[in-house]
Amino acid sequence: MKKQTIRCPYCGSPAILRDASYVYGSNAFDGKVYVCSHYPACDSYVGVHQGTLLPKGSLAGPGLRKKRIQAHRIFDQLWRQGVFSRQEAYRWIADRFCLQTRQAHIGNFSDYMCDQLIQEASKVLKNNHIPLSMAG
Ligand SMILES: [Zn+2]
Repeated sequence: MKKQTIRCPYCGSPAILRDASYVYGSNAFDGKVYVCSHYPACDSYVGVHQGTLLPKGSLAGPGLRKKRIQAHRIFDQLWRQGVFSRQEAYRWIADRFCLQTRQAHIGNFSDYMCDQLIQEASKVLKNNHIPLSMAG
């Protein structure tokens, strides 16, 4: 596979593939992350899909990382609670944001899109009388 240069969207520096412990510390999961080469001055990174070297999305700073985790938690409720199948849930994202299904990944979402997703997913949960749980 051709190796692509992944750049930090905040400072434009190339990202470096490192062990997860580099950003998460010694009790990190056993995986890899793409980290901005100016880390920690530029606090920006993204994990890879398990068992691959493919980034889960674009590099994200602290605020966006938190937002994406939050958006994912609410989105996951849609299929965990049985409103949609997992596949349908991703199609639902794609429809909502006019994306191709393969682009419909929260790892690529901006802060704004995360907010929209949180809002839309909360609405669906509410309409299905599912209490919003941030636990899972
Ligand atoms: Zn950077």
